[in-house]
Amino acid sequence: CKIDYQAPPDLLANRVILVTGAGDGIGRTAALSYARHGATVILLGRTIKKLERVYDEIEAAGGPQPAIFPLNFEGASLADFHDMALTLEKEFGRLDGLLHNASLLGRITPFAQYDPELWEQVMQVNINGPIWMTQALLPLLEKSEDASVIFTSSSVGRKGRAYWGAYSVSKFATEGFMEVLADELESQPHLRVNTLNPGATRTQMRRSAYPGEDPATLRTPEDIMPTYLWLMGPESAGVSGQKFDAQPPRVSA
Ligand code: NDP
Repeated sequence: CKIDYQAPPDLLANRVILVTGAGDGIGRTAALSYARHGATVILLGRTIKKLERVYDEIEAAGGPQPAIFPLNFEGASLADFHDMALTLEKEFGRLDGLLHNASLLGRITPFAQYDPELWEQVMQVNINGPIWMTQALLPLLEKSEDASVIFTSSSVGRKGRAYWGAYSVSKFATEGFMEVLADELESQPHLRVNTLNPGATRTQMRRSAYPGEDPATLRTPEDIMPTYLWLMGPESAGVSGQKFDAQPPRVSA
């Protein structure tokens, strides 16, 4: 946990970083924060209006000109991921960072009542889409001198919890895929892959999962950025195959 990390202002200068789910919640804050630290950010998501707002905020703050890449993981095909790789190759020539952040919560419900279609949808958005996107982008990541791939996990991706269904299973798969990929990339020290569990954070997803909770008791996306920055920046070079937390465990239940 690098919650006290203080990132230098130019931490991500000259880096091209793609953030999925960049229009809202933690992804939005990560995109703004990466841009504030010098990165050219590619904003990927399914709601263009939200991406445009983040784009405008980055421009207004004087950050490097970002790019918008509309993509919905639900309908995205292998061809879409390959087209995306071609476009990014033409535009930027390489990729120095990839934050897999977009996710669907699905429903918190007993497994006996879990709707199979919703299960498939959650697996598509949270793990299958990101896996094939990663495959398409590997050649671009390999062109970077120091690339960091971060997969967003969850505490229910490390220990199963009743009623969390597809979401929990998708996060376990995320942890497993990260380990497989990190092991394969061991001979490529300039390309690292890790998982990051943000911990309870004040976003729409958290509100949907815990409607009775007082959001004021939660850390904000801004509060957890130190670990997001450290893991994306050069100071974590060589660290791969590890599972990180962006905040210390909460004391209360
Ligand atoms: P939000 O629901 O606030 O944001 C999720 C983002 O993902 C949104 O920008 C959303 O787009 C995007 N997204 C959802 N579905 C798709 C899709 N089909 N295609 C493209 N983009 C999509 O969630 P958080 O910010 O809270 O979560 C961010 C990450 O952190 C997730 O991986 C989540 O699992 C993880 N996490 C969060 C915790 C928390 O307490 N908040 C705790 C543990 C893990 P749109 O805005 O257009 O809907």
